[in-house]
Amino acid sequence: MADRLTLQERSEHMARIRRSDTGPERIVRRLLTELGYRYRIQLAKVPGRPDIAFTARRKAIFVHGCFWHAHTGCSGHHVPKTRSDFWSQKLATNKARDQRLLEAAQAAGWQTLVIWECEVKDRQALTARLRCYLGHQRAEKLPADSN
Ligand SMILES: [Zn+2]
Repeated sequence: MADRLTLQERSEHMARIRRSDTGPERIVRRLLTELGYRYRIQLAKVPGRPDIAFTARRKAIFVHGCFWHAHTGCSGHHVPKTRSDFWSQKLATNKARDQRLLEAAQAAGWQTLVIWECEVKDRQALTARLRCYLGHQRAEKLPADSN
């Protein structure tokens, strides 16, 4: 496919993608609420600044957009044809930063789960995955996160 966008248009297009990047995170949060889990968002004190944190369980969820976080092997991840060197480098930098953030959380004793944008479309699978990661809410009767 020919890339007919000018640099300006391309950069505006990318900015729109970045803004809508919060979409998958909203879907995950809404589902967690529906399932009865209590969570904190973007808790500054958790290393790696996960999108969603469960302080009592010491579990964190990172929700990643497939483009900006360069989901390997995913159709949502492609390097734009215009300024492809720039984008390759930028997306590689993003990916390396993600890895550092995950490791920071893990080093501080947090379990981590990455949910990709392409994975939130299948609600049933996502529900199963969240329950598997977090444990069944009703069965566990864990104290609600208090901080
Ligand atoms: Zn993906």
